[in-house]
Amino acid sequence: CGIVGYVGNQDAVPILLNGLSKLEYRGYDSAGVAIQRGEKIEIRRSVGKLINLQKSLEQKAVAGMCGIGHTRWATHGKPSEQNAHPHRSESCVLVHNGIIENYVELKQRLLKDGYKFQSETDTEVVAHLIDTHMTKGKLCLADAVRATAKEIRGSYAIAVISEHEPGVLIAARSGCPLVIGRTADASFVGSDVMAMLSHTRDVTFLEEGDVVEVTAGGVVFTDLDGRAVTRKKTKVTWDA
Ligand code: GLU
Repeated sequence: CGIVGYVGNQDAVPILLNGLSKLEYRGYDSAGVAIQRGEKIEIRRSVGKLINLQKSLEQKAVAGMCGIGHTRWATHGKPSEQNAHPHRSESCVLVHNGIIENYVELKQRLLKDGYKFQSETDTEVVAHLIDTHMTKGKLCLADAVRATAKEIRGSYAIAVISEHEPGVLIAARSGCPLVIGRTADASFVGSDVMAMLSHTRDVTFLEEGDVVEVTAGGVVFTDLDGRAVTRKKTKVTWDA
C-alpha cells in the first residue's frame, strides 16, 4: 500500500517512519522497515499502527543510512508479522505494492528450486526470483530486478536493497505509482510524493516499466532492458 525509501548520510529510521506516517491516510494493517548498515540488512515489522513499529525500533535500535519501509494492505495472506513487508530472500530485501497475478506458478517453481517460503504473500516470490537471478544468474541487483520484472504478471511498485550492493536501492514500477526525490546528498523513494515533502520538493515520477538505480549521489533512470531514459523533474509547489 505505501512505500518509502531513503539513501543518504543521515539515520534512515526517523526519515522512513516520518515518510510512512504521511502515507497512513491510505490505510494499512501492518508496517515494516529494512535498514542497511555496512552490508548487513536488518528487518523490523509490526502488525497494527505505526506506533507499534516505532516502539519495536525504540526497544532495540537499528541504525543505518539506507533503508526501505512499507505499510501493507493485505491482498494475499492475512495481516500478520510474517506477512508484513519487507520480505527477504537471502541477501535481497524488498517491499511491494500491488498484486503478482502469476505467483502460484512462480512459487511452485521456486519451491522445486529449494526456496523456503516464510509468508503467505504473493510478494515473497519476487524476493526469491531476484535472489535467483543474483546468485545463479550472477546479475547485479538492477539486472536481477529487470529479469524478475519480465517474469511477473500483475501490478507492482517495488523498492529493493541487497547485502551484496550496500547503498544501492533499486526501484521499479508497473501499474502502481512510484516517485523519486532528490536533495544535494540524498535520495528518496515513495509511492506518494507526500512521503518525501518534509525533505524535498524536487521529484521525478516514474513511468511504466522504469527501473531506477538510486544512491545517495544520484539516480539513474532506465527501462526494463537497461536502456537509459530521461524523466522530467517536477518541482512540487503545493503544500500538503
Ligand atoms: N500483495 C501484497 C501483499 O498482500 C502487497 C499489498 C500492498 O500493496 O500493500 O502483501
